[in-house]
Amino acid sequence: MGLESLLNIVYILSAITFILGFKLMSSPVSARRGNIISAIGMGAAIIATFLFPEVVRYQYIVIGMISGSAIGLLFAYRTPMTGMPQMVGLLNGFGGTASLLVAWAEFMAHPHQTYFGGAILWLTAIIGAVTFSGSMVAWAKLEEKFISGKPIMYTGQRYVTMAVLLGIAGLGALFAMNTAAPEATPYLGVITALALILGILLVIPIGGADMPVVICLLNSYSGMAACASGFIVQNNLLIVAGAIVGASGIILTLIMCKAMNRSVANVFLGGFGSGVQASGMEVVGEIKPVKADEAYLMLEAANSVVIVPGYGLAVSQAQHAVRELMEAMEKNGTEVRFAIHPVAGRMPGHMNVLLAEANISYDAMVEMDAVNPTMETVDVCMIIGANDVVNPAAQEDKASPLWGMPIIESHRARTVIVMKRSMGKGFAGVENPLFFRNNTRMLFGDAKASLQALVNEFKGGA
Ligand code: NDP
Repeated sequence: MGLESLLNIVYILSAITFILGFKLMSSPVSARRGNIISAIGMGAAIIATFLFPEVVRYQYIVIGMISGSAIGLLFAYRTPMTGMPQMVGLLNGFGGTASLLVAWAEFMAHPHQTYFGGAILWLTAIIGAVTFSGSMVAWAKLEEKFISGKPIMYTGQRYVTMAVLLGIAGLGALFAMNTAAPEATPYLGVITALALILGILLVIPIGGADMPVVICLLNSYSGMAACASGFIVQNNLLIVAGAIVGASGIILTLIMCKAMNRSVANVFLGGFGSGVQASGMEVVGEIKPVKADEAYLMLEAANSVVIVPGYGLAVSQAQHAVRELMEAMEKNGTEVRFAIHPVAGRMPGHMNVLLAEANISYDAMVEMDAVNPTMETVDVCMIIGANDVVNPAAQEDKASPLWGMPIIESHRARTVIVMKRSMGKGFAGVENPLFFRNNTRMLFGDAKASLQALVNEFKGGA
């Protein structure tokens, strides 16, 4: 068997491990195994590719691996868990940049391309450039650096976007028809510049609570860009892996849209989640703060407790403290469940990962659709660092930017205890009328400190 056949067999086996890995990742119980299997497949594919000196230049690979690993390690160590979405945004952007550079490198090295080759170069360059600039804007929005996290809208926005799209398509046709022509280089240059602008235009109108959708979509773009560059370098595994990432990103985008009750089109064209519109509903009621000892009495007397974790739980790294409280309550004979909202936190699956880190069983976690119908029978709903995902304005206030987003209906529980540091707003930047309801008590303070105080109360009361 020749070396080339061996490589193809390794690639096919690697592709199988990716698909198997994805299948296993569909359940939290087997996800870790799925990840390891896919990583082994990817490792094998990389080693097999290294066996081909004509495919790779070892000196560049070594330089790339050392510098890339150093930068990656630095980022990974310096990024707190709460900064993961921004990190994912950046990584998507790097994937896009790599594909863009592959397109340019191939064009410079082999300007004589077939129509198909020209079209693939064009496609790779635009998806790569859109992914790069879009991801940078998403990063800046999430980080609230350089630009606001709110949607940026202006008159004629859709026409500008359409004009840029038409420019990319028109120049693309001219470029692909004769890639060896002297004007092909400026064409590709302008196409790249327009695609970079397009990435910015597509992401700036999105903001507030709709950011999870854009992160998933950019992730999908980075896969598609990799897939397209696989055609350029004629690497079957890159095509397969890119297609899998592209397709799974799209599926995740649709899941996120469903979770937010939005259509992909209205997220991208409508500038949803602005938080700039004034809410039409006046907030009524008053804030009723409680101390840990009073909250303890409510929890101690409860038969059933639902805990709604949110971004603040991640900020205060209170996952272990919440497990301790759960154990104390269960020892007291209380049924404890965690209600997980699909966009709670700052990345898909954020809460599941956080709670699993503290060895909280997946059986204790219930999804929003399962918990909501039972909410009226819940004695205490304890909200830990969540805000937008429990905001009743999503159901009651048509003027709210959250309007239409499904929420965990905590307000229907008999008593609600909200743990947060202040009256600070959530990611969407809107007021939460839940905090002013008659059945709500506010336990102010850092989530971890409040949870530890409650655990101490249970220990003291035992
Ligand atoms: P929110 O961002 O709505 O609210 C978090 C709350 O946590 C804040 O109101 C804050 O109030 C409180 N908080 C912060 N730090 C602490 C702390 N140390 N201790 C106690 N409380 C704290 O979170 P949710 O999880 O409810 O909603 C997620 C939001 O993020 C949604 O709008 C979603 O669309 C968006 N999003 C989600 C992504 C995803 O993929 N899941 C990605 C990007 C955005 P205070 O300052 O008063 O303490």
